[in-house]
Amino acid sequence: HPALPVHELRADFPVLAQSVHGQPLAYLDNAATTQLPRAVLQAMERFETQDRANIHRGVHTLSQRATDAFDAARATLKAFVGADDTHELVFTSGTTEALNMVAHGLWAGGPGHAWLRPGDEIIVSGLEHHANLLPWQHAARMSGAVLRVLQPDAQGRLHLQDLAKLLGERTRVLALTATANATGEQPRYAAMLELARDAGALTVLDAAQAVAHAMPPLTQLACDFMAFSGHKMHGPMGTGALVGRREALERLYPLRLGGDMVDWVRLDGAGFAALPARLEGGTPNVAGAVGLAAAARYIDAIGRERIDAHVQALRAQAAAGLAALDGVTVLSPHATQAALVAFVARDVHPHDIGTLLDERGIAVRTGHHCAQPLHDHLGLGPTTRASFALYNTADEVERLLAGVARALEVLR
Ligand code: PMP
Repeated sequence: HPALPVHELRADFPVLAQSVHGQPLAYLDNAATTQLPRAVLQAMERFETQDRANIHRGVHTLSQRATDAFDAARATLKAFVGADDTHELVFTSGTTEALNMVAHGLWAGGPGHAWLRPGDEIIVSGLEHHANLLPWQHAARMSGAVLRVLQPDAQGRLHLQDLAKLLGERTRVLALTATANATGEQPRYAAMLELARDAGALTVLDAAQAVAHAMPPLTQLACDFMAFSGHKMHGPMGTGALVGRREALERLYPLRLGGDMVDWVRLDGAGFAALPARLEGGTPNVAGAVGLAAAARYIDAIGRERIDAHVQALRAQAAAGLAALDGVTVLSPHATQAALVAFVARDVHPHDIGTLLDERGIAVRTGHHCAQPLHDHLGLGPTTRASFALYNTADEVERLLAGVARALEVLR
């Protein structure tokens, strides 16, 4: 793939052109939140200054334009993830809400409705972000189902044969991440989803860390539900989507009951509207949806394979440099396809490393990365994580390595 014109691309991101503590900002916290290109802001500004109105309700021109903009954003994002007419996309506030909609939707609705029954089994992996664990803990409690965990080995890898052993007659759900945000681990999710579907389970993919990168189109995955966040793909914060097979989405009891999601309402009951409205109760974040679609177009104009080649090279450079430092251990060193690298350093607390890096203008994340059970399982405390996006440079990675080396000297 031809190299990215990184310096030209950086000019698209106003936030990058600043100093922090007197040093040029090196923003290496992209797994938490990526930055926003001007094109996304402009798309949102256009909507807010020309077309802003409520959708699906007005016969007036602005309401129709807003409805059209919302529908066009939906179509753009469906194409972005490789969905087709057998799928639908529901706008959410992010991955967390999308996963909660699925887990809630499968236990709620009362007797006779719920997919999950007492004694059923839900499988989650031990790599999951809390957003793909807590909703399932709750779903298990509410339905009487049992939560089973596909644990990684000591290197943080999941194995297909371990999943095969867990699957059984009572398995109703597999909820799995496409990329673990804490380690960069990328399980063989395509094969795992297929195995689970063959066993009769509904399959849920957390694509928060994967959606900005090359992925198989949804049509080629045995995936019933896929969740992602806008702010991890250069889109607005507080946006995201749940994409799913229509039949699977129709099983969900809606999380948000209220306006715009009903066909009829009486005082003693209501009939829900067809998808996607059924799952989109209340006034949506239309500017956010418009911005999210603009982010998808921005990424596609550059090309996800090209972006991946770039961030994987930065990850390799960072992982090699960190591993060469005294007493530093890189997590999941085999995860060469990842856009992030997490590490621990003997005798030094990640929080102190993060603070010293910040003094040099370098932004990284430290802690448990909302994946506490994974850290417990691997016998780890908190870690330091650097994560890369299309605008990061080899020079920034060198600054990171020099900064970590210096921090270890000072702190030891
Ligand atoms: N899953 C994964 C793998 C994530 O990395 C994140 C964000 N750190 C989430 C879920 C939650 O995403 P959000 O906070 O945007 O809802």
